[in-house]
Amino acid sequence: MGERFRDPGWRLWHFAREILVRCPRCDGRALVAVHPDHRERHAHAVGWLTAPHRLTCGGCGRSADWAPARWERVGGDAYFTSGGPYVVPRLGGPDDPYFGLPLWLRRPCRGGTLWAYNLAHLDALEAYVAAPLRERPAPAGSQTMLERLPAWMTAAGSREEVLAAVHALRASL
Ligand SMILES: [Zn+2]
Repeated sequence: MGERFRDPGWRLWHFAREILVRCPRCDGRALVAVHPDHRERHAHAVGWLTAPHRLTCGGCGRSADWAPARWERVGGDAYFTSGGPYVVPRLGGPDDPYFGLPLWLRRPCRGGTLWAYNLAHLDALEAYVAAPLRERPAPAGSQTMLERLPAWMTAAGSREEVLAAVHALRASL
């Protein structure tokens, strides 16, 4: 792990293509991802964020499908497309944005909840928290995933405890 970590400018959606959740039937590890019939059609992030998604559990065989909601009925951020507008799922927090299931990678830590969608997301959090020197990204509009982390995660005094929680989560994979 290097001393210096430069924020690559990731947004949360960079890590949302494969989301590990707790299976509602067997409590094991399940996966939420774009439905297999819709995987190749989306050049832009908002396209696959609003694409049909599927929950699959390798442990018990549970499967469930999610379809985008019409924006007129729900409100929020809208995605305009043929047949739309649809609601853009709201990313953030320790539940998955499609089915509302608890993330597999979540753990209480310093009065908050440490959470990640998958191993790549956990790796990014670990690299940032572990680095004594953190460089900001080039300005690019909205805050990055790392800039939005709560203070209890990024304070120097939190480092050991947060890294211990990251290691415990990694061990659950
Ligand atoms: Zn299951």
